[in-house]
Amino acid sequence: MKSYKAYKFRLYPNEQQKEIIHKTFGCSRFVYNHYLQVQKETGIKNAYDLCKDLKDFTNKNVFLKEVDSCALRCAIFNLENAYKNYYAKRSGYPNFKSKFSKQSYRTNCVKSTYKGKEYPNIMINLVEKKIKLPKLGLVSIRGYRKKEKIDGRIIHATVTKESTNRYYVSVVVEEEQQIKDKIVPKTIVGLDLGVKDLVITSDGEKYDNEKIMMKYEKRIKKMQRELSRKKNGSKNYFKNKEKLARLYSKLRNHRKHYLNKIANEIVNNHDIVVTENLQVKKMTNHNQFAKYILDASFNALSIMLEWKCKIRGKYYYKINPYYPSSQICSVCGYQNEKVKDLEIREYKCPNCQCFHDRDINASMNIMFEGLKLHYQK
Ligand SMILES: [Zn+2]
Repeated sequence: MKSYKAYKFRLYPNEQQKEIIHKTFGCSRFVYNHYLQVQKETGIKNAYDLCKDLKDFTNKNVFLKEVDSCALRCAIFNLENAYKNYYAKRSGYPNFKSKFSKQSYRTNCVKSTYKGKEYPNIMINLVEKKIKLPKLGLVSIRGYRKKEKIDGRIIHATVTKESTNRYYVSVVVEEEQQIKDKIVPKTIVGLDLGVKDLVITSDGEKYDNEKIMMKYEKRIKKMQRELSRKKNGSKNYFKNKEKLARLYSKLRNHRKHYLNKIANEIVNNHDIVVTENLQVKKMTNHNQFAKYILDASFNALSIMLEWKCKIRGKYYYKINPYYPSSQICSVCGYQNEKVKDLEIREYKCPNCQCFHDRDINASMNIMFEGLKLHYQK
């Protein structure tokens, strides 16, 4: 099976390359806005037709010839996507891009053939830590220290300058993914997802959440306070804003790394993995920050578990979101409505007198529900 994987590298352009990158940002934006205006006035056109028109447009605006022509065509396809998202009600009507919106451009990998040999316009050399990009030539990169080369076909690359003033390139590669045949499962685990502990397994294992979150929450809140005191637009304001953006990106990386570790451990040790349906997970009265972090974490974890199970021939199930996993006694099946109260962390089942840790009991029930789903198939 083919799968797409994005590799994101930090990019270290020299001054000359920076200048070309900035020009390409500007020109892509110019093309995007021009065709947005055209389509607003004369109706929606197919991206291929717009690309044909781009030739004339480039001849009239010769400065566009200085930058990568693939990037300009990509701007047209990005615009088409923006319209598609609008019509599918995934987003609002496309906006004009300004200097202050996200600074990025995308370019496609194309190959030219010379004397029977193929020369792609985008290439990555992980040993020498360089990427070859159209018009820029070789640019230094950093990332993926343990990898020696990237297998698969490069589809496109996106160059961005983030609000941290750092440059990145994200390269999408088509890889041939080996998918194992479905195995005969021997082990199963249910996962309850929570606030204090991100994951509680039916084996009784807990993956802590608060440490990472608290570490960043304090610093981010402090910096937000400082930022609100700074004069908007002043030098210090931008300095602080950059610091804050850097902190958020650190938090994102840290979280991604942690979730990957959790997902790997769980899928390594179990053949059937069961979780709740994460979208409707009820939250306690936690603050916005916690909610923001958790929503993103649950979603990312679910995607990781599903994918890792799939390629290894294992099974992943999400149970009905309305199943009262925490109220049911995992020993005798008695439903205790009092446990609805999220403050109750431990309780004794009034029917069988069993003593329960709320989260472990819930994860056991989730496991049993998953087992039912598995045998219903
Ligand atoms: Zn009981």
